[in-house]
Amino acid sequence: MGNPKTLLGAFRVIAFVQRIDPHSSRAFPSGMTGCRTGLGTHPAVLSGLQQHSSPGGGVRALSDYGLDELRGLFASWGFSAAHAVRVLRALYSPDGMARGGRWPLPQGLAERLRAPHSSLTSVAARQVSDDGTVKLLLQLGDGRAIESVLMPAYRADRAAGCLSSQVGCPMGCDFCATAKMGFERNLSAGEIVEQFLALRSEARSHGRRLQTAVFMGMGEPMLNLDNVVAAVERIAGNDLGGLGWRQVTVSTVGIVPGIEALAATRLGVNLAVSLHAPDDETRARLLPAGKRFRVGDILEAAQAYQAAFGRPVSIQYCLLKDVNDSIPQARRLAKLLSGRRMHVNLLRYNSTGTGLRGAVYAPASDDDAGLFIAELRARGVVAHFRRARGTDIDAACGQLCRKG
Ligand code: SF4
Repeated sequence: MGNPKTLLGAFRVIAFVQRIDPHSSRAFPSGMTGCRTGLGTHPAVLSGLQQHSSPGGGVRALSDYGLDELRGLFASWGFSAAHAVRVLRALYSPDGMARGGRWPLPQGLAERLRAPHSSLTSVAARQVSDDGTVKLLLQLGDGRAIESVLMPAYRADRAAGCLSSQVGCPMGCDFCATAKMGFERNLSAGEIVEQFLALRSEARSHGRRLQTAVFMGMGEPMLNLDNVVAAVERIAGNDLGGLGWRQVTVSTVGIVPGIEALAATRLGVNLAVSLHAPDDETRARLLPAGKRFRVGDILEAAQAYQAAFGRPVSIQYCLLKDVNDSIPQARRLAKLLSGRRMHVNLLRYNSTGTGLRGAVYAPASDDDAGLFIAELRARGVVAHFRRARGTDIDAACGQLCRKG
């Protein structure tokens, strides 16, 4: 059952996608060999729920359970529902892992949980960039695959994780490699949290702590909002993972009902809006969503979100040579953002080959990018260049396309 607060928004989002989704599914490349994700190294006593079958008859992994559902399961087994918090904390909180899962569970419950481990994902491939970025190819139970990225932070002991929300993406943004995969399906909440756990395990092996999670990988999070929210509640909420709501950022290409639905959850996570152009015409060329949602409406929804949670919304803007990098466009963007307290992150375009509709894009020159940001700043806009990470392994923004 999804979060009821998001259902109305999700319904509107689904209706939107059904109008725009032009893609069909594709098969996953064969021949991958897997090893388990971080879940596989988790203490065995907490790792398996083999005896409990899903309605379809398949085994469900612990990551697939929200707190309420696990409480219900334990109660149905005749145990106190309170044990569910302990078990999920052991899975999600860094503290829980450190304590090795040695909680005094009743013997009968521990025995039930001692069944062979089951997880929803496995690491099929790992690539490490010259800059320390790590890209994981995670194989899913149905043979499909997704990519997740670990980015070392400036602090030597911290890292950020970039999570996918869908297999492929239906949004069709012209300069994005994921768009070329088409859309295959939404990820379940369990599959999303297993990305987090795999990246956390990866970070730990590099002596780092996974400190933040951003939904900027494959897919449009607002199109899978119930599962994204359920995953965030597990990894960020105080009662389980404890990462903190403000360590999580959900991005969107500008789906207004999705922004409203995310606000209705009252989680207060950070919001990032991929704008990429200050006018509807240019935006519609780059992003099919631009034909449905107008720049003014997107910024109004973002403004309402910002007002509700008191955190500046970040505006993502990928600078493309001779498309959206002119001084008049910088002025127009500054005018749009005037008085809104939103931050602009300027991204360098990472080549993804010919766009979906045949265009070939190039990054703005250093000179033009410099003039663009100077114009924004001169007009009072807080703007930064976001450092590209992992470009040599196709792990940077817009490059994720499951090449492994
Ligand atoms: S930029 Fe994001 S929303 Fe657009 S196609 Fe790529 S993954 Fe989807």
